[in-house]
Amino acid sequence: MKVRVLGCHGGELPGHKTTCFLLDETLCIDAGAITSTLELDEILRIDDIFLTHSHFDHVKDVPLMTDLLVGKRHKPVVVHGAPETMEAMDKDVFNNRVWPDFRVIPTKEDPVVAFDAIPVRKPVICQGHKIRAIPVRHPVHSVGYIIESDRSAIAFSGDTGPTDELWREINATPNVKAVFVELSFPSSQQWLADVSGHLTPRTVMSELDKLDRRGARIYLYHLKPSTVSEVKAEIAALERDYLQICELEDVYTF
Ligand SMILES: [Zn+2]
Ligand SMILES: [Zn+2]
Repeated sequence: MKVRVLGCHGGELPGHKTTCFLLDETLCIDAGAITSTLELDEILRIDDIFLTHSHFDHVKDVPLMTDLLVGKRHKPVVVHGAPETMEAMDKDVFNNRVWPDFRVIPTKEDPVVAFDAIPVRKPVICQGHKIRAIPVRHPVHSVGYIIESDRSAIAFSGDTGPTDELWREINATPNVKAVFVELSFPSSQQWLADVSGHLTPRTVMSELDKLDRRGARIYLYHLKPSTVSEVKAEIAALERDYLQICELEDVYTF
């Protein structure tokens, strides 16, 4: 599996883009940085998008990309997510007020986008991967994803505060090579992380105590742009060689 980091921040400023990982050029985890990063021919190759939750920084490029697809693809881009997330996409985004309902554009029979509400905890097969959505802790319904392919597995935490089930599921998954873990605020803003369902370096480390790492690398993402340097200094001071903060346009192969 090849993972390209299109967006790895918890907000936007020049040089900072919201959460979006591209797997093998055809599948996205979250949709925070598709249209601001990829050329049209690259966007046209994306067949599936898995959303972790409905917050704007994770879904915003779903509506923006649909506009580009009309007349350019022969099948819809399928947007997958937990039922609560897809309900928000239905009622709050593609509602013909915030954005046109591109599920019937250009025609109902041949639209540019389709929604797929997936069950949590039960694996779905997509593009040859076995993908499981595991509920995590956030003010809205939010999931992490465990993605298994032939030789390796990777996991994404989604936006979450301290949680348990995701770690148990990762621990029971063979061949985990990488875990992408959200890290939003510096430890000096622990109170803010706690009320908003996010992690700081302090709680990332206590969460990682629950992980049977087995040599997997830990990639940290979702840093808030206004406190990136403070968070990076805290992580550097920990001196853990398995911890790595994602940077835009990083590419990892597992
Ligand atoms: Zn977020
Ligand atoms: Zn969120």
